[in-house]
Amino acid sequence: MGQQVVSAAVERPQPRPSRDSAFFWEGAERGVLLGQRCASCKKLRHPPRPMCASCQSVDTEVVELSGRGTVHSWMKPVHPPLPMFEPGYLVALIDLEEGIRLLSNLCEVTQEKVTNGMPVEVFFAPTAGGKAVPVFRPQGGE
Ligand SMILES: [Zn+2]
Repeated sequence: MGQQVVSAAVERPQPRPSRDSAFFWEGAERGVLLGQRCASCKKLRHPPRPMCASCQSVDTEVVELSGRGTVHSWMKPVHPPLPMFEPGYLVALIDLEEGIRLLSNLCEVTQEKVTNGMPVEVFFAPTAGGKAVPVFRPQGGE
């Protein structure tokens, strides 16, 4: 693959929180990865939603997550080009240590070095509007 050229003009769109996901994005803005847990059966779930699929409870609690996980699968979108993302960006499903799966971006690694099961860790990428989104990079560097 060719060399990636990153433009300083690239700016991610800011998150658009729903009532259920507001806590998640507020955590990201503070540099903390948060998850939603059922207050009754203690099962984690993602994305955040009003009711537990296991016990139908609507009682929830917010917990801090480790931010460590592994790549479940990944891909490199090609078309259509999206000017709000760096050229050659990677999209991945991340299995967190806690047992939930997040859709995110893989950063600080080239596609040739990505493997399923690769250990990754969260960090936070700035967006328009002074917000942030959780993204992932290889644990301990590429
Ligand atoms: Zn439950």
